[in-house]
Amino acid sequence: MKKFLSLIIILSLMIVSYAKPKNVIVIMGDGMGYNHVLLSELLCQANNLEIATKNFQVASLVRNDTLDNVVTDSGAAATAFFCGEKTKLQYVGMDKEQKSLDSLGRILKREGYKVGLITNTRYYDATPAGIYAHAHRRDTEKITKDLVSSNFMDFFVAGGFEKLGVNPFTMKPKKDSELKKINENGYKVYGNNYELLFDSNQERFMAFVAPGDKNFENELITGELPFIDVVEKTVEKIKDDQPLFMFVEAGRIDDASHINNTEAVKSELLMFQKIVNYLTKEFNPEETLFIIFADHETGGLSIFSSTVDGSDITIKWNHTDHTGTYVPFLTYGNSKDIFPKQMHLENVKDVLLKTLEVE
Ligand SMILES: [Zn+2]
Repeated sequence: MKKFLSLIIILSLMIVSYAKPKNVIVIMGDGMGYNHVLLSELLCQANNLEIATKNFQVASLVRNDTLDNVVTDSGAAATAFFCGEKTKLQYVGMDKEQKSLDSLGRILKREGYKVGLITNTRYYDATPAGIYAHAHRRDTEKITKDLVSSNFMDFFVAGGFEKLGVNPFTMKPKKDSELKKINENGYKVYGNNYELLFDSNQERFMAFVAPGDKNFENELITGELPFIDVVEKTVEKIKDDQPLFMFVEAGRIDDASHINNTEAVKSELLMFQKIVNYLTKEFNPEETLFIIFADHETGGLSIFSSTVDGSDITIKWNHTDHTGTYVPFLTYGNSKDIFPKQMHLENVKDVLLKTLEVE
């Protein structure tokens, strides 16, 4: 009987360990409120594209307030998500006393995950900085230093090429450029549009695929890769059997919303759907937890009227800044039900680590 019981215990432990996700893929829409998500779905309908978010469920009603304001910014929200702690506006990867916090990325790297981030904004923007930096969000110098010395990510793809020691006229790296230092830390380094700048015998890489932010998808310049191509090129390079923690930011939804640029926000939201569609097909949902979330809403966007097929949509803007709303938090795939029905962004990290059985 004792033997039988221990067999049952061993078997159930095996089931539990099999049940946890091998990969965690987070797709974040900066500034993407629930109305933005609805708009992205209507745009799919109008363009005969699959609505990728239809596979997702609303996992939790999520708040994002900071220690000093109900309306957050990308820095404090990224800190809550990556570091599991509410902080003050403008702080990235630091608590209210400016003490450095450990990020999900660093923790999961120590646990043997392949860890990386892809964004269409600058590397020193507050959201991508949340995974590696400890700084005020406007302190580009410190954020850059933290990136160069971070040394834990397996891949990192962003814009902001021009801040890493390139000659502003030729756009080629200077002798003592930060790009070279990153290479000396053991990374392949790619530049504009994924052009190889510095090779390495290591697999890991950083790519700075645009000067500044990538352009809005409806305003790409000749030869500029659409964001989906950047994501696909990255996934082709990183896909193997190692467990994966990947954070993909559709970061320009926020910028388009700040300036109430309706056409740009539509093109960015359609791109967001294409990326979700691609990733949910590329990675097996039985072994992957997919999370879609937003750090905050921007613009007070509302759908004023629309035909049911999304072919004639009128939207209204109410604001040019972030607003205080509950933010989307959607899940799909393995372990999609792990989150409490109501939470704050700062709770995500602990729930995830518990599910992944990380102390
Ligand atoms: Zn913003």
